[in-house]
Amino acid sequence: MQDLKRKALAVLKKFYGYDSFHDMQYEVIEHVMNGHDAVVLMPTGGGKSMCYQIPALLQPGCALVVSPLLALMKDQVDALVANGIPAAAVNSQQSEAENRVIIENVFKQNIKLLYISPERLIADMDQWSAGMPISLIAIDEAHCISHWGHDFRPEYSQLGLVKRRFPNVPVIALTATADRLTRIDIGEQLNIKDARLFIKSFDRPNISLNVVSGVTGREKLKRIVRFIENHRGQSGIIYCLRRDDTEKMAQNLRSLGIDAQAFHAGMATSVKLRVQRDFINDDVQVICATIAFGMGIDKSNVRWVIHSNMPKNIESYYQEIGRAGRDGMAADALMFYSFGDVKTLMNFANDSGQALVNIEKLNRMQQYAEATVCRRRMLLSYFNERFDHDCGNCDVCNNPPERFDGTTLCQMALSAIVRTKEKVGFRLLIDILRGSRKSEVVAGGFDKIKTYGVGHDFSNAMWNAYLLQMLQLGLIYIAYEDEDHLKITDFGSEVLYGKRQVMLSRFYYDSYEKKPAKRRPQLALDDASSSDMALFEKLKLTRKAIAKARGIAPYMVFSDKVLMVMAQEKPVTKAQFGTLYGVAEAKTELYWRQFTSVIRDHLKGS
Ligand code: ADP
Ligand code: ZN
Repeated sequence: MQDLKRKALAVLKKFYGYDSFHDMQYEVIEHVMNGHDAVVLMPTGGGKSMCYQIPALLQPGCALVVSPLLALMKDQVDALVANGIPAAAVNSQQSEAENRVIIENVFKQNIKLLYISPERLIADMDQWSAGMPISLIAIDEAHCISHWGHDFRPEYSQLGLVKRRFPNVPVIALTATADRLTRIDIGEQLNIKDARLFIKSFDRPNISLNVVSGVTGREKLKRIVRFIENHRGQSGIIYCLRRDDTEKMAQNLRSLGIDAQAFHAGMATSVKLRVQRDFINDDVQVICATIAFGMGIDKSNVRWVIHSNMPKNIESYYQEIGRAGRDGMAADALMFYSFGDVKTLMNFANDSGQALVNIEKLNRMQQYAEATVCRRRMLLSYFNERFDHDCGNCDVCNNPPERFDGTTLCQMALSAIVRTKEKVGFRLLIDILRGSRKSEVVAGGFDKIKTYGVGHDFSNAMWNAYLLQMLQLGLIYIAYEDEDHLKITDFGSEVLYGKRQVMLSRFYYDSYEKKPAKRRPQLALDDASSSDMALFEKLKLTRKAIAKARGIAPYMVFSDKVLMVMAQEKPVTKAQFGTLYGVAEAKTELYWRQFTSVIRDHLKGS
């Protein structure tokens, strides 16, 4: 084996406890060690940090890491220090005296990684003159430099000066944003046009993808509660469309005994910080949030994400579900989708100032929600990635849709639309089909029409789902300019008059309940016996106690994955503990006694 690779693996084992590199990590490390610039695109959880941390540890001097978020900086420094790596941050939250001491320590070569905000780097770099021993410069969240990205930050715009100031120091830009324009822009803005581009697959195979359509209101809440009960003790995020919804959801869940908190941009900063901390420290299990939640969070043991409503586009959806399962263990994504969502989002899109683009994106999102083919294939093809097999870890793969001749069913709905003179919307149409006595139905005289009640055999959710399919297949459309009333297309008329046949996919939200996407066995928690699971829970408590005592987040002590391996391998000596997956040298010393004693007790008891 090459000398460099051997050294890199030794550092990986010593400081992180891992035995091998993930896909593409070593290639980047080698490239940077040879003094070249790099742009690295990897999904969340892909292991970007290793790409600059290992070169930093292998070389003399200190690596500068530019990061946009103070909270994230602190977490990253804490995690490195917990692994025995000398790291620090300079930022505006510390006193100038503290910052000065840290910079002096960098000059004395006592620090291997220095986290710094972009504005600080730009302001201070000239006064460091040539004396600062800089090994490399890493720009994290590099998409923030691009106007094309979804998260442009003015503080990033001057970072192009860095390469001019330190022409011989390798620059490595990292991001989880895949889109093509942003990625080209990063190299240009940073003045590293010749940088090699490293792109890793954006697939996140450990996240199971599930969609439930047509379920709303109280029924939706019931299902969310059931889902959380099936994920007892596991951290998760519920995304809602509006601020109000986050508070209502959190309140509803709390009233049912679930430990939930709301989080949205309208809350006071101090409250937001507290909620975020509680979540990171495993002190609150569920966060009900608008999209504002997640950016500043590095927590690796988020086990599930629910979208209470369909998100506005696939980019947001993918970013949000990506917050689950960063440790590589099985995680679940569940999205609820109903006609009401499409309507609300259509209004948002129309008012957005970029209506055409946003409506197109919304349409793609809707196609995903209604997919009758493997959802992962759809997602990855959206991101222009080749993926030529079914994933086996989405609800479509696990419940292949059953097709049936839906002509009669469609005719019922179409006929009702005609008889109401195309003057009713989705909800009212369903009420009419089901023979509801609601005042709106009676007041409109709809209980007198011939099709009133013909569809009473089908539930609300079923009609919702079939009408959505009719919409998708082009039998009907929504006249947004006419109070969202449903109208019949030419194709719809042909079906109504028996000239065309329609195949529908059997409504299957209930089969999700019976048979959710299976977890991939090699990543699953459920490889473990129930005794192992009981030990895993005990180890989680030990982890939490240690984290409290040390003032760090539980996931920084060990990830869920490491605890799971520990529960299965049951080390009882220091030597066994020290060679375990994910146990760095520094952590062996610190923690072996506490964990092995819990394991020994467990073995005695069982
Ligand atoms: P990203 O920044 O790309 O989201 P991280 O660098 O935070 O990803 O890594 C995600 C998780 O994977 C972390 O828990 C990290 O410790 C772990 N990890 C990274 N590289 C490896 C590896 N080679 N072997 C095992 N685990 C790894
Ligand atoms: Zn699939």
